[in-house]
Amino acid sequence: MASGPQFNLDHDVVYGAVERVSPLVERVTCENPSRFTFKGTGTYIIGNDDVMVVDPGPPEDGHVDALVAALDGRTVTHFLITHTHGDHSPAAATLKQHFDAPTVGFGPHPLDRPDPDAASEDEDSGFGFDDDEADEPTEQVESENEGYKSEHAHDWDFAPDMVVGHGDVIDGAGFSVEALHTPGHISNHLCFALGAEHSLFSGDHVMGWSTTIIPPPDGSLNAYLDSLRLLVPRDETVYYPTHGAPITAPQTLVPALLGHREARTEQILACLGDGLETIKDMVLRMYTHVDKKLYNAAGASVMSHLLALHEIGRVTCSDDQPKPRSTYQLAD
Ligand SMILES: [Zn+2]
Repeated sequence: MASGPQFNLDHDVVYGAVERVSPLVERVTCENPSRFTFKGTGTYIIGNDDVMVVDPGPPEDGHVDALVAALDGRTVTHFLITHTHGDHSPAAATLKQHFDAPTVGFGPHPLDRPDPDAASEDEDSGFGFDDDEADEPTEQVESENEGYKSEHAHDWDFAPDMVVGHGDVIDGAGFSVEALHTPGHISNHLCFALGAEHSLFSGDHVMGWSTTIIPPPDGSLNAYLDSLRLLVPRDETVYYPTHGAPITAPQTLVPALLGHREARTEQILACLGDGLETIKDMVLRMYTHVDKKLYNAAGASVMSHLLALHEIGRVTCSDDQPKPRSTYQLAD
């Protein structure tokens, strides 16, 4: 198996400060660290006097105040939104009260807002690990789950003023960016390429500190892999993800991320070939070396692969749609 992606956990930030990352780009980081946001949301400012703002972030007063101060005296021409998760788009609404500029995105959230009266997560959402196998209800795990709810929640209210699709160019003052449609993490995900610096604002599509989660039902591993493959022939030399440090060797990382997922798919096909039928059994075979607390996260990853294999007809499933406790078999 090829060596896996090399992740970079070295990322020092000064929350609320304007940090220069290149001649045309600055970053202001929100103090919303979690296991899903790493050190927090990095909001990028492109340009000097006339600027575009990438991913304004969560609706947190301190972060909005820091951005208002950072943008004081400048003209904002566009708010670029990579996708409609709660740690990326919501602050645009508040910033628009200060700066008269359109939001730019692929579209509103792809899913319907859940009915607050409906029962939350069905009780069989788990993969069936015994209590001593996964997720002890420690304080730490609980607070991390809270982090998922608050920081990585969905932004149901956002609708872009300017709808853009793959290849559309957004002209600023003295520079322009190209939108790349990169579904997978969420179907409305965009990356933005800044040709003037051969750089790419990669949102949550490619991050240097972690793999990308592919949450069902809208997340799609097949779409995500296609969205990685479309980056391979491109010539950007640095990526700026919304979480984590700049990625300085994307031409190495992107193929490694692809290889990592392809190797995982092969492992799952091998499990199925050996007659393992449940996600739980596959996790117990494939993740022997990881902390049991991560079994549910591993289960979610295995399930994203099974959904993808089911979608292309290579795997059959005991339910109409793959579920955490379905049984799976290789298709004939
Ligand atoms: Zn996200």
